[in-house]
Amino acid sequence: MTKVLAIDVGGTKIVYSVINENGEFLKEIKRTSTPKNIEELQNLFKKIIKEYENEIDIVSFATAGAVNISNTSVESSTPNMPEGYNKLNFSQLSNKQVYVENDANAAAWAEYKIGAAKGEQNTITITIGTGVGGGFITDGRLLRGKSGRGGEVGSMKINSKGRICTCKRKDCYESYASGTGLKNTAYETALNDETFKYSIFKNKTPNEITTYDIIAGIKENDEYSLKVFDIWKKDLIIGLINIANIFDPESIIISGGMGEFIDTEEIQNAINKEIVVSDVKVKLAGAGNYSGMIGAALLACEKFSTY
Ligand SMILES: [Zn+2]
Repeated sequence: MTKVLAIDVGGTKIVYSVINENGEFLKEIKRTSTPKNIEELQNLFKKIIKEYENEIDIVSFATAGAVNISNTSVESSTPNMPEGYNKLNFSQLSNKQVYVENDANAAAWAEYKIGAAKGEQNTITITIGTGVGGGFITDGRLLRGKSGRGGEVGSMKINSKGRICTCKRKDCYESYASGTGLKNTAYETALNDETFKYSIFKNKTPNEITTYDIIAGIKENDEYSLKVFDIWKKDLIIGLINIANIFDPESIIISGGMGEFIDTEEIQNAINKEIVVSDVKVKLAGAGNYSGMIGAALLACEKFSTY
């Protein structure tokens, strides 16, 4: 049996446990908050690794940010990670083999191996939270591209409106189809649409309206909230149509916090009405909350273990 210390690194929390080559947890899942500076973060990684080092074979990281082609470092970090994260040498953290993978890629691999897309050789997992991430499995392989940064679906452009993304570029898919995108759409709709005048949120200033407000508004049958959500959904679907047409997948798996607000059957029908490839299934993720950890651990096993 191969034992992997699997560490999931996000902007706010770090979660870790020991996982075997079947994606099963062997130890209690522990969590801690992400330090704000790079020295503290590095020390935390070392401390966690030291605790398990004698009983494991490999250390795997699933992390925010784009990972290099040799899976040893983060090439471009995200704004929520400490400054200097992209300079961190992960292989020096342990005397065991260390493997680093982008969290969206890792989640896609987990869906492919043990989750909702098990057995499907062509499947794409789209993670919809505060941003949009993607992992592409094509012909049973994880798409990496020439630099390891392939599959950055959140940065695909779907519009020419000039909406500014959190990455400062304009009209990225994630500035429309993420939770943040829903907030952006709420703002624009409040400025431009009549329904806002009669909305339960009419006393709020448009930039105060949150993603949660819109979700709550839908439950209240608030016309403005319904309209905002409808626009958001259309933008989400446009991106998924493009993805389906280019990659011809068996399935698109939706993961991330926004997944619970999505009717997958409705999205699936809307996509299949417009694509030129054969029908695609849209499903919610099935590998659970720790799919990033599991996926990175399984990929690390494929790379390093000799069983
Ligand atoms: Zn962007």
